[in-house]
Parts: sequence; structure tokens; C-alpha cells
Amino acid sequence: MVAQMHSTRIAIIGAGNVGATCAYALLLRGLATEIVLVDANKNKAEGEAMDLNHSVPFAFPTRIWAGDYSDCTGAAVTIITAGSARLQPGQTRLDLTKTNASVFCEIIPEVVRHNPDGILLVASNPVDAMTYAAWKLSGLPAQRVIGSGTILDTARFRFLLSQHFGVDTHSVHAFIIGEHGDSEVPVWSLANIAGMHLPDFCAARGLPYDQLAMDGIFQQTREAAYTVIERKGATFFAIAAGLADIVEAILRDQSTVLSVSSLIHDYCGIDDVCLSLPTALNQGGVAWVLPMNLNPQETEAMRQSAQVLKANIAHLELVPK
Ligand code: NAD
Repeated sequence: MVAQMHSTRIAIIGAGNVGATCAYALLLRGLATEIVLVDANKNKAEGEAMDLNHSVPFAFPTRIWAGDYSDCTGAAVTIITAGSARLQPGQTRLDLTKTNASVFCEIIPEVVRHNPDGILLVASNPVDAMTYAAWKLSGLPAQRVIGSGTILDTARFRFLLSQHFGVDTHSVHAFIIGEHGDSEVPVWSLANIAGMHLPDFCAARGLPYDQLAMDGIFQQTREAAYTVIERKGATFFAIAAGLADIVEAILRDQSTVLSVSSLIHDYCGIDDVCLSLPTALNQGGVAWVLPMNLNPQETEAMRQSAQVLKANIAHLELVPK
């Protein structure tokens, strides 16, 4: 008897820069057997699907098409990248809350109507508020609603640290937590290379530990999106690669620990808000969130980040359309 191949469908809502590049990353990694693109601009979704299909001979057998919400049926993960990107240089992610909350009121009820059993993965900004909105609008258990959170900020932080210390990014273990945005928090107290705190690593290598350089690295991390947008108008390669990592952790049931956004309860006095902490992801979505042992300054910075986000979600108007 021939074994039946199990199909794995990923739905992507929003076939813009982030959505299309994410589909490309999934395709090149052979993570899904089916990828459906849904966009209010059907022409754009069709064009992207065609271009992606022409990449299939260079990648893995994958069925890719421009569909509608009914095609979300059975998707293991539905990735939401629809909505406005930052409109002008200098505008913050939080400014987008109102516009994208209204888009989510349209999208999320449609997705869950056709797919009540899948996982929602939110990338649209401001991603923490939009993750909270997706949870509220979907009625899904919180563990099945995940935001890309600070996965990108953590990647930028590790990249810059790796450049400074002259080691591979994979050898740098350091997290950015809290808001994906201006109030994000670098966890310096636990950052390490080969298990050694950064000042100890420097001492062992006979290098000076340069606090000013570290401050500069965090500043560059926090401002990276603004810097890239100023030059090329949008950021999408790195977030697409990060979304593919999240999807892989889920599909392969890996319990990979990533800094993603999810509903937080009872951490350092923080409650009922979505923000990023190191989070294990498996096929059920969020397996567990790690209550990091922060120092007093980091704890205070996390409380402030949570307050910024609380103030932001207080303005959400969530009326399903
Ligand atoms: P984009 O403008 O290129 O694409 C957005 C797409 O959404 C467009 O194709 C548009 O037609 C579609 N869309 C808008 N309203 C819709 C609706 N109601 N239904 C279906 N489709 C709809 O923007 P982009 O550069 O791809 O960015 C997308 C989102 O991702 C933005 O909110 C941006 O800020 C965010 N983003 C997040 C991160 C992160 O780290 N989380 C990184 C980069 C970008």
C-alpha cells in the first residue's frame, strides 16, 4: 500500500512585502505543502502566487495559490500580515493601532469562521496590540494566538553583538523582551557567549568591556526599523525569516524557545497584555512562557513596557465586521 502524504497548509493574509516574502521563505525551506495567499488586492495576491509558483522548480513541491478566506480551512497556521505599514518616517508602530485594529475586525472573524482549530500568527503592527486584538476577536484559546513580537529585535540584537564580539550570531544568546517597539527591554544581565556573561567573556579574551559600545548596540537595535525604512521604505526579509522559524517550531513540534508575543498573566505584576518573553512553541502553539529572572532595572523597564502596551490596547475598538 502506498503511504498517504499528509498535506500541511499555511494561510497568509496580506500578500504585501512581509506576506509575500514570508511565503518565499516557507517555500525555500520546504515547510508547507500548500501556501494560500489572501489579500484585499486579489491582483497582487495572484501576481505573487504566480511568481512563487515559478520558484517551485528551484525549491520543494508546494501548491501555491491566491485564495479567499474559505481557503484558510484546515491551515495549521494562519499568518496575518495585512494592514498598513508605517506610513511616514518618524511615525511609531503605536500610531497604526486604530487603522490596523479596524482591518483585524474584518479579517479575524472570517479566518476563525473557516478555521476554528488552527493557530494565528500575527505580524501586523503594532504587533503586541494586534496579537491582543486577534485573541479577543477570535475567541481562540490564548495559546493558539501568537505575535512575532520581538523575534526580529532579538535577531538584530544578536547580529550586532556578534559583529562587535567577532563570533557567529548562533553563539550569542541574548534576548530583547517586552514591546516590539520603543519601550523594548534588552536583557543584559543574562546575555552570554558560551554561557559566559559578556564582561566575563571579554575578560577571558583579554578585551575591554565597553559599556558605551553596548549602549550603542541597543540603540541601533531599537532604531533598526526606522533606519531601514528610511533607506528602502520597508523591512521584510528578516521578519519573513523569523516567521518561518516560528512556523517551523510549530509544525515540527520543536518546543523552540523564541521571543514571541503572547497573552501574559501574573509576571512581575504584569497581567492581561500581550508582550514578548522567551516562549516555547510546539504544535499546540504556546507550550510555556519563561518567567525570566530579571535584575531590578530590567524588571522596572518591563513594567513600563507593559504600561505602554496597556495604554495602547485600552484604545482598541473591536467590533467584528
Ligand atoms: P504592505 O503594504 O506591503 O502589505 C500589506 C498588505 O495588506 C497589502 O497587500 C494590502 O492589500 C493588504 N491588506 C490591507 N488591508 C487588507 C484587508 N482588509 N484584507 C486583506 N488584505 C489587506 O505592508 P508590509 O510591508 O507587508 O507590512 C505589513 C505589516 O507588517 C505592517 O503592519 C507592518 O508594520 C508589519 N511589519 C511587522 C514587522 C514585525 O516585526 N512584526 C516587521 C515588518 C513589518
